[in-house]
Order: sequence, then C-alpha cells, then structure tokens
Amino acid sequence: MVDLSRDWDVLVVGGGNAALCAAISARRVGASVLVLEGAPKFYRGGNTRHTRNMRCAHDSATETLSGPYSEEEFWDDLLRVTEGHTDEALAKHMISQSKEILDWIPRQGVRFQPSLGGTLSLGRTNSFFLGGGRSMLNQLYLTAEGLGVEIAYDAEVVDLDVQDGMFLSATFGAERRSVRARTLVAAAGGFEANIEWLKQYWGPPADNFLIRGTPYNRGTMLKMLIERGVQQVGDPTQCHAVAIDARAPKFDGGIITRLDCLVFGIVVNRDAQRFYDEGEDIWPKRYAIWGRLVAAQPGQIAYIVFDASSLRLFMPSLYPPIQAPSIRELAGKLELDPDALDATVNAFNAAVRPGTFNDKILDDCRTEGIVPPKSHWARRIETAPFYAYPVRPGITFTYLGTRVNKEARMLMQDGRPAANMFAAGEIMAGNVLGRGYAAGIGMTIGSVFGRIAGREAAANARN
Ligand SMILES: Cc1cc2nc3c(=O)[nH]c(=O)nc-3n(C[C@H](O)[C@H](O)[C@H](O)COP(=O)(O)OP(=O)(O)OC[C@H]3O[C@@H](n4cnc5c(N)ncnc54)[C@H](O)[C@@H]3O)c2cc1C
Repeated sequence: MVDLSRDWDVLVVGGGNAALCAAISARRVGASVLVLEGAPKFYRGGNTRHTRNMRCAHDSATETLSGPYSEEEFWDDLLRVTEGHTDEALAKHMISQSKEILDWIPRQGVRFQPSLGGTLSLGRTNSFFLGGGRSMLNQLYLTAEGLGVEIAYDAEVVDLDVQDGMFLSATFGAERRSVRARTLVAAAGGFEANIEWLKQYWGPPADNFLIRGTPYNRGTMLKMLIERGVQQVGDPTQCHAVAIDARAPKFDGGIITRLDCLVFGIVVNRDAQRFYDEGEDIWPKRYAIWGRLVAAQPGQIAYIVFDASSLRLFMPSLYPPIQAPSIRELAGKLELDPDALDATVNAFNAAVRPGTFNDKILDDCRTEGIVPPKSHWARRIETAPFYAYPVRPGITFTYLGTRVNKEARMLMQDGRPAANMFAAGEIMAGNVLGRGYAAGIGMTIGSVFGRIAGREAAANARN
C-alpha cells in the first residue's frame, strides 16, 4: 500500500527504462521515491519490455562491443537520420553522457551480451541486453526495490495539480487516490497507443495503424502537462514507424512481427504497384521509413513479394509467408488483381541488370529504366514458390513531447524552467529526435535523461 499521508521527495510516473533509471538515480542520493506504473505488474515496463539494445558512445572495444564509437560519429549519425531536426546542445550532451551510461547500467545489475548476427549489424555501436528488454527491466526493478524505492502498479496518473509551473500532487488509479511529492519525474512514454489522438493528425488512416508496444502509453501525462503550461516540442505526426506483419495484434506484437525482408523482394500496394526504392540503402538506415511509406498507401496496406531464392536470408517472423506456385495465384491469395501483379513483377524482372548479389554491402544488383528504381539487391523474382507478407504501419513511439533542458527539467510555455518537474524517455524524445531514428537511441534517451532527471529531482527536493 502506498503511504499517501507523507510527502515523497520524488514521484516518478511511468514504469519503463526511463522511470526506473530516474527512480534508482534519485534513491541512490538519498531521496524517498515513489513510482506509479499505470500497467498491472505483469505488463509493467511499457515499450522497454520489447527492446534489445542501446546505443552509447565509447572510445574503444569492450567485451561486448566490437570497436570504438566516438561521440563525433554518434553525432554524425544522429544529424544524418534526423536531417538536422534535433536540439544540438541537448543531443550532444546526451551523447557525451551516454559514455557513462555504458558503465552505469551494468552497475544497476543489467547484463550485456555480444551482438549476434542479423540484418541490423549493430555489433560495434549498440550494447545488447542479455535476455532482452524484459530481463533488463527485471534487473532495474530488483535494484530499485532493493534500494527502497516504493512501486505501485495499476496506478495510472489521471490528474495533476500544477500551479504556475510547480507540481503539487497527482491523482492516480481507479480509486482516484491523491499523492503529494516535492518533485515530479514524468517518464510515462508517448501517446502512440491513443488511436483517437493519432487520428487528430493522421485522420482515419490511423485506424489501420498497429501499435508495436504497450497499450498503456496513451499520452495521459503528456496531455496534462501541456494543458498545465509545459512547452511542447516536436511535430505530432513524427514517430518511429516500421512495416510490420498486417496479421499482428493491435498492440504489443513486439519485435517478432517486424519484417526485414523487403530488401530482398519488391513492395506493392493494394493496386499491385510498387511505390518506393526497396534497395535504397542498408537496412539499419532505412527500416524506420517504411511505416510512414505504407501509411501513405491506399488502405494503409502493402505486400512484400519475393521468391524461393530469398526465403532463408532474413529473420523469420511470427507468421508464415503466404505462398503460391505462381505470381497470379499469389495475387489471388492476397486479393490483388492478378494481371496487375503479374505486370508489375514482369516489368521489374525486365529492368533487373546483372550483378553480384551481396546482402552485406550496397551491391551492384540494380534496376534500370523503371520508376521507382531498386538501387541494390535487385534480383529477378522468378523461382517458385512465390511468397508474400502483408504489411501495415507499425507505430513504435511518437515524438511529440515536453521540452526539457540539460537538467531534464521541463520548460514552461513562457520559456521559464519548471520549478520542480522533470521528464525522461519517450515523453521528451522529440527534443533529440525531431524526425528519423538510429537503432538503439530510444533506450539511450531514457537512460541518460532518466539518470539525470532522478539526480536533479532529488537535489531539487532537498532545496
Ligand atoms: C517492439 C519494440 C522494439 C524496440 N526496440 C528497441 C531497442 O532495441 N532499442 C531501443 O533503444 N529502443 C527500442 N524501442 C523503443 C523503446 O522501447 C523506447 O524508446 C523506450 O523503451 C522508452 O522508454 P520509456 O521508459 O520512456 O517508455 P516505456 O518503456 O514505454 O514506459 C512508459 C511507462 O509509462 C507508463 N504510463 C503511461 N502513462 C502513464 C500514466 N498516466 N500513469 C502512470 N504510468 C503511465 C506505461 O505503463 C509504461 O510503463 C523499441 C520499441 C518497441 C515497441
């Protein structure tokens, strides 16, 4: 039972990586800390449960990282993927702090493992959690509990008392209980699971989006904070979105529904037309654009079509591919126009130029005289059986957030720093990610700003 009679030093709202990093960091400097997690205990940990790795700068190879990854290289990568839509000072601060996180996270009990092979090729830049995100979270929870952090589940915060930039109390849970604290850390994720909110920006197509992670990130905290005067940051339509199996559940399908095989075939819409260069660049740099591309297609559906020669080249997904002995029969199973799909595949095959196929590099297998082109890994689709995966936009997380400074302190709409409110993780990711994504950076944002937010909130509570 949460002690509602006392004033806590730090109230952390959320139960994922950012929240736990904040809670541990605050508790380690002596603050009393209460964590309110909206989800039931079994589903605790939001999107963090689905993660596999995080990206941190480091000067040399480690036991689990195959080589150095300098701050400058990290910054170059971030600049490229965001196309400059990032707060440079804050992003560079995060990158420099990420070096310490590489030691700090294992000190909280989390273990890393060497990267295995796979389409994302992240062995030098990203640290993989032994046992994945759930295992990582379990360690953070154990550590937090061991330190004396109080945790309540089924405790969605539904109201906030904020007066002139000063947090006073929060109301949570079905019984609408109220709790006071000297400082607040908001680490309650984005609003990706709130389809009605997504529809405000995307319109009816948002009904066809699948949400890759937790149904509990409904943006309740984000909305309340903005309504109470906190400055928002980021374009509400920007998000991390990949192509996932259209048969995936509406929420929480996780990593096993993602389809990385589109570089090996072609992608057509429901008119059986191609619409984007499937071989534009190496997969880690392109996988996160395909959610938006499919979202822009009629009915928000597309089909990855490939042949027997590619079947064993990629990570299998939860669902088997749809299979047929001919392209026309495949079209029938997909409910596409057989003539149209046949014509698209024939036109593609005719445009393929000879080359040496190598899926580890930007090879010379490309098309000529076709729009859109396929710039690499273009091979004729001609060996039966033929296969297809239906795909829909899979929303990972949204970028609209609360603006923060280097202390992870929220800024108010008039530019003043909030008196006692801090934010970490997805809820402020838009400060760093104006658009685009580099694999593993979601966890960096949560860990770095979570650790800072906890420390700063604890210091604030003492003053
Ligand atoms: C399938 C998938 C795979 C991913 N893989 C990676 C990866 O390998 N590496 C990487 O860096 N990133 C990855 N990400 C992104 C990553 O999950 C997030 O960036 C990161 O987990 C965000 O951490 P967070 O603590 O901010 O949010 P979350 O972990 O989502 O936690 C938010 C928490 O807030 C709680 N909450 C929400 N509203 C309220 C409320 N009103 N009151 C109380 N609690 C509330 C939720 O229940 C949840 O526990 C992946 C995401 C998905 C969906």
